[in-house]
Amino acid sequence: MKIAIFSTKEWVREAFDRANKKHHMEFSYLEPRLNIDTVGLAAGHDAVCLFANDSCDAEVIASLQGMGVRTIALRCAGFNNVDVRAASAAGITVVRVPAYSPYSVAEHAVGLIMVLNRRYHRAYNRVREGNFSLDGLMGFDIRGKTVGVVGTGQIGRVFCGIMAGFSTRLLAYDLFPNEELASTGVEYVALERLFAEADIISLHCPLTRDTHHVVDRDAIATMKPGVTLINTSRGALIDSVAAIEGLKQGQIGNLGLDVYEEEEDLFFEDLSGQVIQDDVFVRLQTFPNVLITAHQAFFTTEAVTTIAETTLENLATVHAGRDCANRLVPEKVYGT
Ligand code: NAD
Repeated sequence: MKIAIFSTKEWVREAFDRANKKHHMEFSYLEPRLNIDTVGLAAGHDAVCLFANDSCDAEVIASLQGMGVRTIALRCAGFNNVDVRAASAAGITVVRVPAYSPYSVAEHAVGLIMVLNRRYHRAYNRVREGNFSLDGLMGFDIRGKTVGVVGTGQIGRVFCGIMAGFSTRLLAYDLFPNEELASTGVEYVALERLFAEADIISLHCPLTRDTHHVVDRDAIATMKPGVTLINTSRGALIDSVAAIEGLKQGQIGNLGLDVYEEEEDLFFEDLSGQVIQDDVFVRLQTFPNVLITAHQAFFTTEAVTTIAETTLENLATVHAGRDCANRLVPEKVYGT
């Protein structure tokens, strides 16, 4: 089985070579992201393996179909970048890694809260420069605060568990409330109430038509002044321009982002010698109370190992003609 692995980085190569000792598949490690300009690189392969910022829309899928590619293997959980319906119509199977380490992402979200609240990002630089002033570094006790969790799937539930350890009051919103989580004291409420009452809001729902810009200008206006807002899920859950307005007005007190709605042109690349063209992103970077990491929440040894192993298991299962539990089907994805 020949697989074209797009968006390859050194860590991808290392993890997949390790996992492949069991499978002996043939890989083409390709650095470019998949899009309509690079799709030709998939010629001669049975499958393509993609990450969060590869773009696999209907046009790309039609090209893949023409080349005889039979499988799209996502090495991530989110699948908003693949037109699953178009793939299904083209007879291409789509598989993903629904769970690798919810701890990696949940712990990163908590890290963003801690750094922003206690201003570690500023303190680190100050102390290195011999500036031992505490001005501007005042934080708040997390104990007793209200934390709002949007999306209580695997990551959201782990996040709730960690935040419960801080003795917080936990509010949650999900289309499908989890009874087990509710029995631990997490209170499911309407999204409007969560926005209105939470001191800290963390987003853990997928990006769908319904959740696109779920945090927009109107939503921000209903939040507590000075709210801490954390997004480790998908960038387009937050309207970045509205977030900038909210930061300027002081309505948003802290903003922690591991994802950004236009991250495809930025993240995972070293652009340190280039002029960043995205003015919204650059403006976000100017705030002292904004912390951006470049989609690294998943990036732990445990998660990366599981990603590679599960991706190859998925490919082997599909290749053998067996039913794959991690297959995405339009009926489940789009609810039709
Ligand atoms: P999951 O499928 O286990 O949970 C998602 C939850 O969101 C489910 O409980 C679902 O019912 C809920 N949901 C769906 N639509 C909703 C809506 N409109 N409003 C509220 N809740 C809704 O997924 P997960 O493994 O917990 O991952 C969550 C998201 O985290 C993924 O979709 C992905 O985008 C993101 N993610 C980011 C990274 C990273 O490195 N930053 C890594 C992995 C996953």
